[in-house]
Amino acid sequence: MKIGILGGGQLGRMFIQESLKYDDEFYVLDPNPECSCANISHFTRGDFNDYDTVLDFGRDKDVVTIEIEHVNADALGELENQGVKVVPNSKIIKIIQQKILQKQFYEENRIPSPEYEIMAGSEDEIKIQIPFVQKLNTGGYDGKGVQLLRSNDDWRNLWTRESVLENLVDIDKELSVIVAKNENGEIKTFPVTEMVADPKLNLLDFNICPADISDETQKQIDVIANRFIKSADSAGLFAIELFLDKNGKVWVNETAPRLHNSGHQSQEGNSNSQFEQFYRVVTNSPLADTEVFGFSGMLNLIGEDNYSGKVKYEGLEEVLKLPKTYVHLYGKKETKPGRKMGHINVLADSREELMEKLIHIKSLMRVIA
Ligand code: ADP
Repeated sequence: MKIGILGGGQLGRMFIQESLKYDDEFYVLDPNPECSCANISHFTRGDFNDYDTVLDFGRDKDVVTIEIEHVNADALGELENQGVKVVPNSKIIKIIQQKILQKQFYEENRIPSPEYEIMAGSEDEIKIQIPFVQKLNTGGYDGKGVQLLRSNDDWRNLWTRESVLENLVDIDKELSVIVAKNENGEIKTFPVTEMVADPKLNLLDFNICPADISDETQKQIDVIANRFIKSADSAGLFAIELFLDKNGKVWVNETAPRLHNSGHQSQEGNSNSQFEQFYRVVTNSPLADTEVFGFSGMLNLIGEDNYSGKVKYEGLEEVLKLPKTYVHLYGKKETKPGRKMGHINVLADSREELMEKLIHIKSLMRVIA
């Protein structure tokens, strides 16, 4: 098949990497000729937000998909009209692109998500009480476009743009579940993963699997994943980011209509990875089993503050000597503060051993220039 992907970042790269064992051709559209997919695909330089560019790119493909949701969804809709298969479909991409539509979607489909109010512009009267979280309707990404208003002094920081104002959840754990559906309607869910946050150790970027949650919590998540995938009415692979609050209730934070950072440890930690599953979805093949092996975790390799330029991975040699440790780099030549450059997956027999290994690796590695 001719598979077209909008976006050429690391998610696309790892998808292609996994899928090259099958007999397909991969085409990528991205504005950056040095993106992660440029030298491992048939590469087209162009803007995936531009209507005509997306239409031209997609026309001769058997299927068009995305690895980033900020794309021109109208062009994807037109491709659908012209008979090109688009996965996930343009309708669900449009809903997820806009926080307001996304919140309304949860409400309509009885998917628990924090109470909210819509702010159309600066003139609106606001009823929600401080503290609350403001999320811009469009343009947010990786924590940008999200802010917490904590005290009355913070009112002056309120962005005067269309946004969702959301009740603050008293978070016990941040969790994620990845669910996939193919065109035949088959559905499979990955084991739930957990973000480990320890502000003292600054361990804000570990994601581990399986999550330490009760059967009751798992049940709530099963209901959410099931309702989401049925209501979405589209083939696709979706990552649902969740909050477990201190009263034991699970809320949906947001959903990504694509491969996700919280699924990277599945590369070695599960019988099949999110990338393999996504291949099955895109090609409408039988879905793969997602069983977890022991404990797995992932540590993002992020560009250190104060370093920009040609990347160096300090400590990589030491990490490569470690057993059950797997390095994945994204082919990005230049590092910048906060840029995701790669990740490391680790396997262990217990949660304690896993945490020790992750903390050790974190202490060994630095992404500098
Ligand atoms: P992004 O996907 O751009 O990173 P998120 O919507 O996930 O943005 O928000 C970033 C972080 O802000 C979340 O991981 C969470 O820690 C916090 N957050 C978001 N919404 C809420 C909320 N309603 N209550 C408490 N914390 C929140």
